[in-house]
Amino acid sequence: MNGSGRAPTIAAVAALALAWPWLPDFTVTLLNYIGLYAMVAVGLVLLTGIAGMTSFGQAAFVGMGAYATGLVTTSPALAGWLGLAPDSVWLPWLGLVIGLVFTAAVAWLLGVITLRLSGHYLPLCTIAWGLSLYFLFGNLDFLGGHTGMGGLPSISLPGITLSTPRTLGVLIWALLLAVIWGLHNLLDSRSGRAIRALKSGRVMAEAMGVDTARDRIKVFILAALLACLSGWLYAHMQRFLNPTPFNLNVSIEYLFMAVIGGAGHLWGAVLGATLITLLKQYLQDVLPRLLGATGNFEVIVFGALMLLALQRFPDGLWPTITRWTGRLHGAGRPDAASASASASASASASASASASASASASIPVSAAPSLSGAAKTDAAIATTETLPSPDDVVLQARDVTRRFGGLVANQRISLDVRAGEIHALIGPNGAGKSTFFNMISGVDTPTEGQVALRGKAMAGQPSRRFARLGLARTFQHVRLLGQRTVLDNVALGAHLRGRRGWIASMLRLDRREEAVLRADALRQIERCGLRAAAQVPASALPLGQQRIVEIARALAGHPRLLLLDEPAAGLRHLEKRALAELLAQLRAERMAILIVEHDMEFVMNLADRITVLDFGQVISRGTPAEVQRDPAVLEAYLGGAADEMEPA
Ligand code: ADP
Ligand code: MG
Repeated sequence: MNGSGRAPTIAAVAALALAWPWLPDFTVTLLNYIGLYAMVAVGLVLLTGIAGMTSFGQAAFVGMGAYATGLVTTSPALAGWLGLAPDSVWLPWLGLVIGLVFTAAVAWLLGVITLRLSGHYLPLCTIAWGLSLYFLFGNLDFLGGHTGMGGLPSISLPGITLSTPRTLGVLIWALLLAVIWGLHNLLDSRSGRAIRALKSGRVMAEAMGVDTARDRIKVFILAALLACLSGWLYAHMQRFLNPTPFNLNVSIEYLFMAVIGGAGHLWGAVLGATLITLLKQYLQDVLPRLLGATGNFEVIVFGALMLLALQRFPDGLWPTITRWTGRLHGAGRPDAASASASASASASASASASASASASASIPVSAAPSLSGAAKTDAAIATTETLPSPDDVVLQARDVTRRFGGLVANQRISLDVRAGEIHALIGPNGAGKSTFFNMISGVDTPTEGQVALRGKAMAGQPSRRFARLGLARTFQHVRLLGQRTVLDNVALGAHLRGRRGWIASMLRLDRREEAVLRADALRQIERCGLRAAAQVPASALPLGQQRIVEIARALAGHPRLLLLDEPAAGLRHLEKRALAELLAQLRAERMAILIVEHDMEFVMNLADRITVLDFGQVISRGTPAEVQRDPAVLEAYLGGAADEMEPA
């Protein structure tokens, strides 16, 4: 949440707390339901709105939490077996623990099976298991079948029994607020940056070292656990269970709550739960009076209103409301200014701390041995120029071939990139340059051939392994999270330099590390000349500058090897010069750089060695001077384009 949203939120929570003892019973009960629904919906905001996985099955997880505790608290045999009295105050808590463990296990299993599916298959699968679990609840005799299970105790602690809605409501809302706080912290962290990339930037996030498949399952389990927690509270509020509240319709309502409130905003879940609960209540009261008691008109009217709301507010209501409150504050745009001011203050304050921390966090410097066997075969295609010892070879590609059906996009391409050199890969459009980049960065796997990074054979490994070994890349088609700030985007590049996990982030134990990562990200942004844009959403920048953001993001990982796919495209003359200076500086720091670029003046002035591709094959390699003289190259670029090869 941004600064302007915090004060009203705290005020609203404080007002609710103060009014709680005096609210009418009916209002308290309604608020309890809202809290329970919001707990599920906030998990869906994370799962669907932020991480991009749609689930129509959350009600089944609510049911798991409810039935688990129902079973534990109503079977004296189980209590006796555990050495507890049948009326022990600890039984509901035991029910909670067992429910959470069971739900996590089921969610993990379902996640492993279904989260691999993409497109429409995932939502369809959630419908399938949502339905099956619902029917399972109804058909298991020991769960009471469709008639239900009664006699659940209240939740209590030694000395206090939460038997009234008013007392239980305190627990419900305290847990909900704690959950929102934890999720807010999570999203505002290293792990949160990775989670936000799951929806639209998985290839990019993997290239930054994020294990996106694992993160998707973790998000899925977390959302299921929140549903389970809601189910536990619900079971001890109702003290009676039957399968109806856990069916598909209710799952769909949860999804409505998340989407109507604002699928990308945690508080949107509370808003959505409130609106839908009140709306349903109101329709149930009013419509029968208007239209007669026969027929479920409220369902029809409810559906129509949902349609209308989704059509009018596609991003949900929360963003609209924060815009209104922002206007009430009379604030033009103080947020960005104050945020950037504080960011620069913290950057300078933590400069000394981060210097030492980043030294220890970066990849230990060791000699990068070459593939000894492959190094010998290199003699066959040996380059003539004198270069540092072959120990400096950072990347080695041998006979890399990639076929797309009948098309050979890369044919037996061999190439070395050494520390402290800028190696350019050029060739006409469609020559296979981007394909080759994907081969040597783990985004795609060669059909044949080997890739070694710092001496390790890498073919078939995912791109996050390449990132671990110090490879960073940019993409020809820019892959940024457009809604996030430049700083956030660049900080994602530093993902592997942090260690703190989800729980530490939720509890705010990651602040020191986070400050170091952000300060370093800011330094890379400054280095790339984008200081003024640090707090601007990435999509607000022109395309050329977005490419520079990608370079800053790559540098934030402190790479050994930098792969740049057409970095100068869309840049103006001065910007190109600044980029050339930056790359020369990185070369002086012994970074290995492989660059694909169409701007021949840029390449010829900057590169130490050039490899020329045409139709997927290497047709020439050497220094810029050698390549420019090569007839094969002139041939490939023929059609008036030969002039392009002359540096201006
Ligand atoms: P460049 O980057 O040099 O312009 P690319 O590597 O993008 O060239 O493409 C090389 C060739 O491979 C092109 O003919 C392109 O159409 C083809 N190609 C690239 N990616 C795929 C893919 N995923 N499936 C099928 N063909 C592809
Ligand atoms: Mg390309």
